[in-house]
Amino acid sequence: MIIEMTPMSSEIDQSDLIRRLQEMGFQVARLDSRKLALVKGIDPLVRADLFTALPHVQRVLPLKEKFKLASKAVRNEPTVIEIRGKKIGGRELFVIAGPCSIESKEQIEECAKIASEVGAQGLRGGAFKPRTSPYEFQGMGEEGLKILRDAGQKYDLITVSEVMDASQIEIAAKYVDVLQIGARNMQNFSLLKELGKVQNPILLKRGFAATYQDLLLSAEYIISAGNPNVILCERGIRTFETYTRNTLDLNAVPALRELTHLPILVDPSHGTGQRAMVAPMARASIAAGADGVIVEIHPEPDKALTDAQQTIGFESFAKMMRELKMIHQVLKEIC
Ligand code: PEP
Ligand code: MN
Repeated sequence: MIIEMTPMSSEIDQSDLIRRLQEMGFQVARLDSRKLALVKGIDPLVRADLFTALPHVQRVLPLKEKFKLASKAVRNEPTVIEIRGKKIGGRELFVIAGPCSIESKEQIEECAKIASEVGAQGLRGGAFKPRTSPYEFQGMGEEGLKILRDAGQKYDLITVSEVMDASQIEIAAKYVDVLQIGARNMQNFSLLKELGKVQNPILLKRGFAATYQDLLLSAEYIISAGNPNVILCERGIRTFETYTRNTLDLNAVPALRELTHLPILVDPSHGTGQRAMVAPMARASIAAGADGVIVEIHPEPDKALTDAQQTIGFESFAKMMRELKMIHQVLKEIC
């Protein structure tokens, strides 16, 4: 339920109303100087006139979605997240590129250099890489995060890296701008709650068997725990198709646009699992209205220690960037 206060109500009136509602057993979120959302404790039998009778309440609107703070009902304009001067979710294209795993300083520096040259905004790289086999490369850990931070600073790119469990949050938050939550952890609710306590924006990837509502409820966990800066990412789902690693569900882009104000990215690398399909699906993602893409690149893609088959080289990446900029420009003109 959304409570709209009268135009004349003051900050003190709002604090009084919040206190009163809390005393009535509701969890209240302040949306702006005149709007409150009741996110928890709403009994369907509670009547709207119970609230309209309270001081300074102008009107009461229903909040019908299960996700509340992530919904368009509480915020109609798109959320723009600004990270070190770069904006995601606005009118500009946002591209994050980098290897699946951080392997060495040289590898990250080379990726950062090309990413900044071609106009990308972000640098990605995994430092914690639990693998199917315990004997495979597990990632460089903290040393890798330092490498990522240094390259991000040197080339003015925001940095993105995945955290796998709550114990890694503090250390990753120290070095990187955006914490990524992988598809396998999208419904790790205790981890999501912990992410509500940090300042870093969260890149939340869709689980491979998660509905849009599931994804938005996971975002809701983070937002309701105190961190409003969530970026959603479609990265492909499991279907009966075996030709591709996953099926990139581009329906997600316009559907999520309809449902939420949060920024939307697409990951065509994991979404296809195939190098040759990355650029076409990145182009399609931007054409569908995504705010940007996150792609895996490597100086020598065949030698990448993880996800080599879906990693693109620098030349293909530069070409893809030129194409994405053109498509994005057209979209800006027509939408
Ligand atoms: C990744 O980005 O490298 C990754 C593991 O992604 P996902 O969680 O989408 O599989
Ligand atoms: Mn990967």
